[in-house]
Amino acid sequence: MTDSTIATPAAASGHAHLSTRILALASMGLMVLDHELRVVVWNQWLASHAGLSASRVLGRPLFEVFPELAGQRLEQLVQSAMQSKLPQRLSPASQRAPFPLYASGTWGGERIEQAVAVTPFTEGKQHYCLIEVADISITVDKEKQLRGQAEALRAQSYVDGLTGIANRRHFDVALDRELRRAQRNSGQLSLLLMDIDSFKAYNDHFGHQQGDACLTAVAEAFAGMLQRPADLAARYGGEEFAAVLPDTSAEQAAQHAEAIRARVASLQLPHAPAATRPYVTLSIGVASFHREHLSDAASLLAAADSCLYQAKRNGRDRVELHSLTPAA
Ligand code: GH3
Ligand code: MG
Ligand code: MG
Repeated sequence: MTDSTIATPAAASGHAHLSTRILALASMGLMVLDHELRVVVWNQWLASHAGLSASRVLGRPLFEVFPELAGQRLEQLVQSAMQSKLPQRLSPASQRAPFPLYASGTWGGERIEQAVAVTPFTEGKQHYCLIEVADISITVDKEKQLRGQAEALRAQSYVDGLTGIANRRHFDVALDRELRRAQRNSGQLSLLLMDIDSFKAYNDHFGHQQGDACLTAVAEAFAGMLQRPADLAARYGGEEFAAVLPDTSAEQAAQHAEAIRARVASLQLPHAPAATRPYVTLSIGVASFHREHLSDAASLLAAADSCLYQAKRNGRDRVELHSLTPAA
């Protein structure tokens, strides 16, 4: 109802009064500069966030009130708006807090993040420009928060949900990266593929939930055996794990694999009666990068997998090493 009365011509006589009220109520900074860049309008929002009342600012050139702004992007923008008669905007990306504005009562703290719009206009024969300053601190904080969340999500998508070690995706990326590095530097790189022995029997005997707990315990023990920052321990599949070991020869990798096998066996996690051993064990296949014979991820994985299969055939709870010169 009130809105419609405002719109009637009869109410137009009250406009000047309303404009003053609106200026005082606006929850953003509104200022007007004349052609000599003197401040002729300075609203309450600016007064309370700059800590400068209208009486201290009105009639003074803006760049005298804020000497730090002289020669800055904002001054160029105002000059160019006045000359070109075209509106300008100060992108928050180029300068996020040009005016020394603070949340009320916190002068000297962190500045309010600002979006600034400069609009030139003519009234009578005089040229002016309106400067609107919006507080975008909340938006900027939200953006930061979202960026943080996106980063956390990305980290999560590289982590296996059950065991907390790297997942298959992370493994694929790491293997690819390390292979390329080995190729570039004529370096060494080894791969371990390991599989829990008779795990189906474990699940059948103890239940799936305890099976999950067993997987977590094995993953933790195995990952704890890798010492170098560049080593990667990953869950490759259901009850299969993998390790990428950069700068590691086949011989060193075989030693690592044997230490991992022994470590998991030493946990003495009780196994199902149908298993090869009364405690949980791992079989491990080892393959190492070779410039001519094993130079890509697929062939390296196939070699490690066939060693793993061999370890199973040879009785489980053992390590088999890929050999480039098969026994005659
Ligand atoms: P082998 O010694 O030859 O490796 O025998 P196995 O029984 O371990 O091999 P198989 O591949 O037949 O069985 C693997 C089992 O691992 C079957 C599947 O139910 C179980 N498994 C796979 N992923 C999970 C999991 O996330 N949690 C649990 N509890 N069990 C899993
Ligand atoms: Mg398996
Ligand atoms: Mg298995």
